[in-house]
Amino acid sequence: MVLLGGGYTGVWAARRMTRAVRSGALRDVRIRMVSAEPEHSFHGWTAEVITGHVRPERARVPLTQLLPGVELVHGRVGAVDPRRRTVQVQTATGLRQLSYDQLVVGVGSRDATERVPGLAEHAWSLKDPDGLAALRTHLDTLPPGATIVVAGAGFTGVEAATAIAQQVPTARVLLAHPGPVALPMLRPRFSRVADYAIDQARRCGVEFIPGARLLRVSAEGAELDTEGFVASATVITTIGQTPVALPGLDAFARDASGRLATDRCLGVAPGIWAGGDVAAVPHPSGQGACPANALWAIYHGKRIGANLVRTLQGRAPRPFTFPGLGQGASLGVGRGAAELYGVQLTGWPAWLARWVFFHWFMPSRRIGLVTALDWIRPRETVGTDDSAYLYATA
Ligand SMILES: Cc1cc2nc3c(=O)[nH]c(=O)nc-3n(C[C@H](O)[C@H](O)[C@H](O)COP(=O)(O)OP(=O)(O)OC[C@H]3O[C@@H](n4cnc5c(N)ncnc54)[C@H](O)[C@@H]3O)c2cc1C
Repeated sequence: MVLLGGGYTGVWAARRMTRAVRSGALRDVRIRMVSAEPEHSFHGWTAEVITGHVRPERARVPLTQLLPGVELVHGRVGAVDPRRRTVQVQTATGLRQLSYDQLVVGVGSRDATERVPGLAEHAWSLKDPDGLAALRTHLDTLPPGATIVVAGAGFTGVEAATAIAQQVPTARVLLAHPGPVALPMLRPRFSRVADYAIDQARRCGVEFIPGARLLRVSAEGAELDTEGFVASATVITTIGQTPVALPGLDAFARDASGRLATDRCLGVAPGIWAGGDVAAVPHPSGQGACPANALWAIYHGKRIGANLVRTLQGRAPRPFTFPGLGQGASLGVGRGAAELYGVQLTGWPAWLARWVFFHWFMPSRRIGLVTALDWIRPRETVGTDDSAYLYATA
């Protein structure tokens, strides 16, 4: 079995299969994971990594430590050949060809840098783990009064802008978005939650610029269609993601945003499965496709893993039935904004619910526990590095 991508989909699918191998339910199975990054990134803690509440290494765990029993191939998939059942991978030592019986496509999405000239070269990415680490260092070196432009007012943009405003209180943080209001995905049903989040962000000093489309980014700043040129050495993009398109899979159906269409069991074609941001998986409610976020990717991965086990045992795969849980953001400790099973929560209840869920869904119980303990440890000891112990036992 070959899994493409070491994100949420790949990790949770692999864990389900290695469990079956360990229990003896599966025999003579070789599980390989190809990942461009040697680590699994837990993006949900991005704001907390910026504010220093979560140590960067907690949100970025080496895959070799996380997935014992899985052979890791560190490299970038160049192409898939579904007819020959092979995958071409560019590794540091050269091109490798891997054959598969079953393939899991979990390569996720990438920053949609093609949408705005200069974004790829001059903007900071929160998706790229190295970029996030570099951004933290950069924020520490900003002179007082520096202007920071965050483009995009979805959950990630609002959370990140607020975290930056808290971390660099002397900076001017502008949040530019093309729509009339921020957090449009919460409206109209969860408008109370959205308004609370915006109010909290404003209290931290974030200035919202509605109706402002990002036209161009340069080393000197950002050009917004309503404001003109804004001088800034720090332009951060959260304007959206584009599914990663792998050559060789072009013949398969996609939805309007370019995600690979799957059936209800997450199959794309015989021997090929897909989940997470790269896949348009039918929502169990029968209405549209599942949203692209971490929780759905985790459950897609779990279902793909279980279906692979069933397939190898000669049993029929089962449909994806996870109904969803909700969505949430943190605007600082005790200031959460969430929707849980359709119920609107703000303040401490929302913050605590998100805190518990995020630790629960960390890629191992031990990492979740150690990350949770960091919150009550004195901040000076949080700086000491016990990651070697953590990863050795993960
Ligand atoms: C800054 C940020 C904050 C977020 N916050 C939240 C949040 O709070 N809650 C939430 O639910 N969701 C959040 N998300 C969204 C969430 O991270 C994604 O929905 C989730 O990561 C999707 O999982 P995935 O498995 O599809 O892909 P990913 O987790 O992105 O994993 C994709 C994997 O594929 C690898 N890969 C890509 N291309 C190739 C290739 N050609 N060859 C080999 N490997 C490749 C990558 O290296 C990576 O390992 C956030 C995203 C970002 C960027």
